[in-house]
Amino acid sequence: MSFSHSIAAQDARGTVRLVPAVVLLAVPLSAQQPVVVPREHPAVKAALESIQRDNAWTLDQQVSICEIPAPPFKEEKRGLEMKRRFEALGLPVTIDSIGNVIAERKGTGNGPTVAIAGHLDTVFPEGTNVAVKKDGGKFTAPGIGDDCRGLATVLTVARSMQNAKVQTPGTILFIANVGEEGPGNLRGMRYLFRKPPQKIDYFISVDGTGLGLTTGAVGSQRYLVRYEGRGGHSYGAFGMANPIHAMGRAIAKIAEFQVPATPRTTFNVGIVSGGTSVNTISPLGAMEVDMRSESPEELAKLDAKFKVALAAALREENARWPNARDTVALKIIDMGIRPAAQVNDTSFIARTALAAGKSLGFTAPTGASSTDSNIPMSLGIPAITIDGGGEGRGAHSITESYEDGKEGYKGPQWALLIVSALSGVGRVSYTP
Ligand SMILES: [Zn+2]
Repeated sequence: MSFSHSIAAQDARGTVRLVPAVVLLAVPLSAQQPVVVPREHPAVKAALESIQRDNAWTLDQQVSICEIPAPPFKEEKRGLEMKRRFEALGLPVTIDSIGNVIAERKGTGNGPTVAIAGHLDTVFPEGTNVAVKKDGGKFTAPGIGDDCRGLATVLTVARSMQNAKVQTPGTILFIANVGEEGPGNLRGMRYLFRKPPQKIDYFISVDGTGLGLTTGAVGSQRYLVRYEGRGGHSYGAFGMANPIHAMGRAIAKIAEFQVPATPRTTFNVGIVSGGTSVNTISPLGAMEVDMRSESPEELAKLDAKFKVALAAALREENARWPNARDTVALKIIDMGIRPAAQVNDTSFIARTALAAGKSLGFTAPTGASSTDSNIPMSLGIPAITIDGGGEGRGAHSITESYEDGKEGYKGPQWALLIVSALSGVGRVSYTP
């Protein structure tokens, strides 16, 4: 199925008219807007063909970017290389003060500004071996899919638009951003969408592999929990409240939490630490906890339940040793909150992405996830996260791998079509 660029379109008032191939306009961001996928627009078509033809270039980008380490908060080197590559494509680039690399491709008119971004950071610490192993069509390296595939897709879309001279009414921002993964806590996006915000009407994050569409932002809350006491000898000081025992009580309560399957809501004690030796009452029992939900309400409920459990565990442990001179104290440290939000699947941006996928012959499954789009979604800015094509395994593990398969190029093609459509190529003119 393909979408013609010259169509009989119905405007917001119900007037049907024939519209030319490329018309540009100020477009209201309403859900009623007809979706136009400029699949047959000559320049877009040329760009789509070049993506397939030059698929090896995309893979080269993916591999060579991946071999530049980008641990959390140390994305600079990879960022500078992205800047160099955008500039080599003839685009002016700025790096903002948090480290986001932003290449600007000016529009021909006053169409919507569309940002497409991949994230620079990985979850891997400094010193991780990032050399890419190639075995036939399989590439193995930490970060090869998440998100070197996204970065390569952003570069490929930029290159194909430059080479095919695709004229877009709206300006396109090609972005390589910092801080998507856990510790970064979306700081790149928080900065990009700070107040006063950069003008961005539509935001697309390309994150990972496959051909899925993320229209929901899974909210997450993460805490470092510390039970602290005086500690002492396990035999000599016996009779005092024990921070690790208090933490154990808390974990036992958390383990019994009941959460809804829909909207999907989850919890996990991911790291426990503390302790000096087997015969020491530890002065510290610490744990890191992650809770997530597609629903802001469910996340808030779970968060409240969690804090009640922590406090109850503390009370019980202190009450267990009523004659102790010292008690255990509780500290809850916020490690980062990501807001939950939802972009309706019938919204203009989601319908555009789905129609673009259809025109390339696939139906993108939709779902919710925790990505850079959480921030614009939570601010009410139309945003989606798309996969970058191909097939990935083992994201966030050092054995992460990527296989391009027969149709890996469809990821970047999809991204190009979405960007072109949203920026107004082939769009209908109508008054709101
Ligand atoms: Zn990612």
